[in-house]
Amino acid sequence: MQKFGGGCYCGAVRYQIVGPPAWSGHCHCRSCQLALGGAFVTWAKVAVDDFIVTKGEIRFFLKTPGIKRGFCGDCGTTLTYAAENKVEGQNWSADAWFSAATLDDPSIAKPKTHVFVSHQQPWIKFADELPTFPEF
Ligand SMILES: [Zn+2]
Ligand SMILES: [Zn+2]
Repeated sequence: MQKFGGGCYCGAVRYQIVGPPAWSGHCHCRSCQLALGGAFVTWAKVAVDDFIVTKGEIRFFLKTPGIKRGFCGDCGTTLTYAAENKVEGQNWSADAWFSAATLDDPSIAKPKTHVFVSHQQPWIKFADELPTFPEF
C-alpha cells in the first residue's frame, strides 16, 4: 500500500500514513475552532496501525474529558485528535484521526461531510454541497 507523509509547520514532527485516508470531514465545533485558532478543521482518519510517527514526538493537550489533542511542542501545529468511544457502535480508538492539512499533499484527503455546523461561524459559506450535520 502506498505511503503518504505529513508533519507540522516547523518539521520537528513527521508522520507517515499507509494508504490514503479512509475518511475525511470538516469539523466546525467550537473546541476545534479554539484549539486551531481557525474557523474549522479538516480531520482525516486511517486505521490506528497505519499512522506512524517517523520523527519527533507528538505532545498532547487534554481539556474535554476523554479527548486528547496532539500537537507539535515546538511550533504548535495541531496534528491529531483522539476520543474515547462516544458514539454507540463505533470504536473510535481503532482509528487515528489527524489534521488533513498537515499531509504533504492534503488533496488526497477528500472531505465527505461538514460536522458540528451548529457551531459554524455565520461568515463561512460553502458551495461544496457536502452533507452537513448539526453535531457529529
Ligand atoms: Zn513543529
Ligand atoms: Zn471539532
